Amino acid sequence: MTTGVRTTIDDAAPAATGRTDAPCAGAGRAGAAGAGAGLAGYYDAPHTSAERLERIARMDRRSRTWADAPVLRVADYKPFQVLDGEGLRCSLYVSFCAFNCRGCYNKAAQKRNYGVEYTAELEERILQDLAGRHVAGLTLCGGEPMLNATNLLPLVRRVRAELPEKTVWSYTGYRWETLELIGGDRWELVKNLDVLIEGQFIAEERDESSLKPFCGSSNQRLIDVQASLAAGRVVEYEVTARF
Ligand code: SF4
Repeated sequence: MTTGVRTTIDDAAPAATGRTDAPCAGAGRAGAAGAGAGLAGYYDAPHTSAERLERIARMDRRSRTWADAPVLRVADYKPFQVLDGEGLRCSLYVSFCAFNCRGCYNKAAQKRNYGVEYTAELEERILQDLAGRHVAGLTLCGGEPMLNATNLLPLVRRVRAELPEKTVWSYTGYRWETLELIGGDRWELVKNLDVLIEGQFIAEERDESSLKPFCGSSNQRLIDVQASLAAGRVVEYEVTARF
């Protein structure tokens, strides 16, 4: 599928319904022009200066060359909570993120060696927790899940195979278009998701009154992954239930 990958740059941001922090995720809506020259139409970031948008765009360009974390490390695992997506969910917070967004709520988790190494025991616990009757699914949070894509794919594929009724969401600082351009395991991970909340977090665009559910700044998008793949364009996801 294609969503019209652009050859210029930009950034995006994360978000979450009712969150007061800014988890990794969410991308900018194409449309309203940002202040940065050459970024018009790339981000809906009307409160952000041209200088900041250029920096965000630079990170987007650089992110295309970043290597995956060699080992999957876990900053936190929180089962049975409602902050990271629709319904009761289990959230896996992975370590390592290089976007370094201003105002990132979890700077410690940006470090590659933060947290503890992912284990087979934790994977079994996640599968067991997800199997709970009232649990809607798994959310991958960061840190940056896409910089751990290769190591997260086996878990996500297991959830798909063993618990097909559960949904899988992920946050990312990457834009959809950038992930599509990069391809490889990052795009493969995207293709195994139900919802992607994408884009760098832009503190200037954090307007509590207009935030979309589960987003940290209003430039981010909640993308219905399977509908987008089928349509060949980005289809935004409509949240129907908070819990
Ligand atoms: S993309 Fe990375 S730096 Fe930005 S808010 Fe998310 S975890 Fe923090």
